[in-house]
Amino acid sequence: MSESEKKKLEKRTPCFRIEVSGTEEKKDEIFGKFASIRQELTKKNNKPMGNLQVIEALLQKWNEENDTSNTQTKEENTEAINQNDVWHCVKSVKSALKKVSTGSKSSEGKTWSFQLSDKVEPVATHMHWAIQNCNQDEKKLQKSLLNILDHYKNIHTDCHESARCKVDAKYEPSRIVITSPVAEKLF
Ligand SMILES: [Zn+2]
Repeated sequence: MSESEKKKLEKRTPCFRIEVSGTEEKKDEIFGKFASIRQELTKKNNKPMGNLQVIEALLQKWNEENDTSNTQTKEENTEAINQNDVWHCVKSVKSALKKVSTGSKSSEGKTWSFQLSDKVEPVATHMHWAIQNCNQDEKKLQKSLLNILDHYKNIHTDCHESARCKVDAKYEPSRIVITSPVAEKLF
């Protein structure tokens, strides 16, 4: 071998070496994959790709995957915050409703109404249902929440088709029907 040929060979030697332990099979498997990634990169970029570029591509992929898992955690957090918001919102409605559903005998029909006395829990359930089934549609949610009063006034025109008041032909309201304008106003 001539000096120039030797130089040429030296030039082609990779600029770094990876020391690997493990069986020959394992090495073949890993380097086989490595080579195929390199081939693919070469095809994609239309120029020869070195080991360094393969590692770079793998690192990039690694980072992308880590980023997606971060985004997922963020989404999960948002979900948790939303759930928390829903809970607080329903809780405040419940406590407001409690105030107008009990009181002294003399103030009945003024600051509170007997017709609302059995509505706190079902209204809260109704709200949770409405929020979960609105598909993030604000208008749908608003309509659904406003309909709660109608439902308790025994008007079921806009109730959900799956609701018992729609499905059951013999449906009888299980709660006190709201007829008093005072109750309606307090509600
Ligand atoms: Zn209904």
